[in-house]
This record gives sequence, structure tokens and C-alpha cells, in this order.
Amino acid sequence: VPAAPHDASGERVVTHDLAGLAPPPRPARRWVPRRVVATPAAYDHEHGLRVMARVEELGLEVERLRSNRLTGLRGGTERETYAAAKSTMAIVVSPPSRRRLQPIAPSADWRFDLAEGCPAHCQYCYLAGSLSGPPVTRVYADLDDILGGLAEYAGRGTVTSRRADRAGEGTTFEASCYTDPLALEHLTGSWRRAVEHFGAWDADVQLRWTTKYADVDGFLDVAHHGRTRVRFSVNCAPVAERFEGGTARVADRLAALRRLALAGYPVGLTIAPIMPLPDWREHYGALLAEVAAAVEGLPGLDLTAELITHRFTPGSKEVLLGWYPRTKLEMDEAARTRKHGKFGAVKWVYPRDTMAELRDWFTGNLPPSCRVLYWT
Ligand code: SF4
Repeated sequence: VPAAPHDASGERVVTHDLAGLAPPPRPARRWVPRRVVATPAAYDHEHGLRVMARVEELGLEVERLRSNRLTGLRGGTERETYAAAKSTMAIVVSPPSRRRLQPIAPSADWRFDLAEGCPAHCQYCYLAGSLSGPPVTRVYADLDDILGGLAEYAGRGTVTSRRADRAGEGTTFEASCYTDPLALEHLTGSWRRAVEHFGAWDADVQLRWTTKYADVDGFLDVAHHGRTRVRFSVNCAPVAERFEGGTARVADRLAALRRLALAGYPVGLTIAPIMPLPDWREHYGALLAEVAAAVEGLPGLDLTAELITHRFTPGSKEVLLGWYPRTKLEMDEAARTRKHGKFGAVKWVYPRDTMAELRDWFTGNLPPSCRVLYWT
């Protein structure tokens, strides 16, 4: 096993030999930011005050900023900036542009945000290159306005809910594009309120979010009325142990999936990012066996899977190498195929044959109770 590096916050990042040595147990810890700041505007919102009270109850001090802009967060190097930003939580008002929802196929009709940023340290992080500035975790004080603003989108389906296999879900809203809800819930209470909001909503709608955490206790007794689908992002042991610093163990995520399913939630798997490592069939086979055990005997199980292969862009590669200069994550253009994404942006994906092989294997090996929503 290679020497364990340390991530920017000084926490030990568990590494794992690709041949599949058993990883040490890693208890899931709740994130405690080193610094919590709030903008003056956040004090004008009830939810902002609720978050501040919650944070103070946990013994953390909230620093009131002089202006509504977050400044002074850069360190001398990329790594120092990363370390300071990743240990800071900012209570802010969401940018007005976020109120105009964007379609987010194939996951959902619309995306909305209750936070931006995440305290975990995934070396392939999807946020790299998508967010500008230091990766501070921003939580939104204007949650009540954000949830209230969703009403005008109910019934406005997009290409996603017009698909025959998605029609039964109503208008779908994705709330984890830019963050991990369960990583922050103990500090904000935002996603419980969102689940309650959708549960009480007299319309054909669905809230969706995905997580790499397992702290679901606060959601078991919510009147969700089946209108929230929680998906757990999982991966095979070599990927999860090597690249997903600061998250809950996959076994704990699957136990949390089971608990939510028992509480009547529709649930799902986000298997991502899928990587064709050496012996990948064996490693992903072990993961799917764990999944099958986790969902065994669940009455009325509604389980979906979203299958996403690893890809990178020139921008995300540059940011990730700044954040994790010693990463072993493969981002070799010579081993990839160049594709053009939305608006012509370049992305590097696995070659066509590899993609076909992976796709066939996954669709043939998922538990029969699992409905695949998409492959990409
Ligand atoms: Fe990035 Fe998601 Fe990992 Fe958070 S959990 S660091 S958002 S990939």
C-alpha cells in the first residue's frame, strides 16, 4: 500500500492498493468547519438566522462579514487557498441568477440549489472547473424564497419527464448539482425542510438528491409522501478508498439507503465515476453484491440506478491537479476519446469499445429490482 498522503486540511486520506487489500474501517464524521462566516444580507432571512442558531448550538462562532462579498479567502498557493476554503462555511443569499432554473437532463427536469460547495475531498470532484473562485461551502439563507419559487416550474416538464420510463415521476427537481446535502444537513437543516416542502406540495413533483454520506436519521420521520428520491453515490472499493476523502464508507451509505427505503422513500444508486481499473469486473462485482444484500427483502422497493463513467475536461484537470498535485487519478488524454459536450466544450471520455464493455457488464449485473435511468 503506498504511503498515505495528507489532504490539504491535514486529514489523512486513506489509500488503497488496486489489487484490492481490505481498507481499514473509517467512521463517518460530521463536518465541523473551522470558520463560519455570514454576510449582512443573510441576517435578513429567517433560514439564515436558523442556520446561525444551529451552528452556534454546536459551539461554533459565526463571524459577521462587513460586506455581502466573500473576499480575502485566497492563500499564497492553490493548495493553501483550497485548504482555507474547504474548511470554511459561508451563510449567504443565493445569487439572483439561481432563481431561473436550468434543465438538467438526464437527471431531472430542473435543478435548484440550496448550497454550493462540499466539505469532502474527492480527487475527481465534479465541482472542479464548474465553480469559480475558492471552493468555500456556501449555504443559502434564502431557502424559503428558493423553495417558494419552484411552484412556477411544477407541470413544466422537459425532455427528462417526457421519457416514457420517467413519466410517472412528475416534474423532477435536482438539488445536489453543486453540493452534497447530507454533508451539510447537521449544520443547516435545509434538506429536511425541502423534503417537507415537497411532501406537503399538492402537485405531481419529485425532489432528487444524491450523497456520499450516511447520516439519514433526521429524514426517517419526515412526511415525505414518496416525493423525494435519495440516491447514494457509490463506487468499488479501490475508487472509494483511494479517491473519496472525507466521505462515509460505502457500506454505511448502503445501510442508509436501506433505512430510507424502509421509511418508504424511493431510493437510488449513482454509480459514479465508473473507472475500468485493473480487475474492474471483480471490484464492481463485489460492490453490486453489497448492493444486492442491502436491498434484499425490502417491501415495495423502488430502486433506480444512474451510471456515469469518469470523464474530465481541460479545465477540471487543471483545477484538480492544483488541489491534489499527487493524485493517482488517471487523466491521460492519450488513453481517452475526445468529445464535445454542451456548447462545444471538450471532454475526455473512455474509448467507444471500453464504454460498450462497461455498459453491457453493468446493465447485465445490477440487481433485477433496479431500474436504470441512464448511462453516460
Ligand atoms: Fe465533490 Fe461530490 Fe466529492 Fe463533494 S462528494 S467533494 S461535491 S465529488
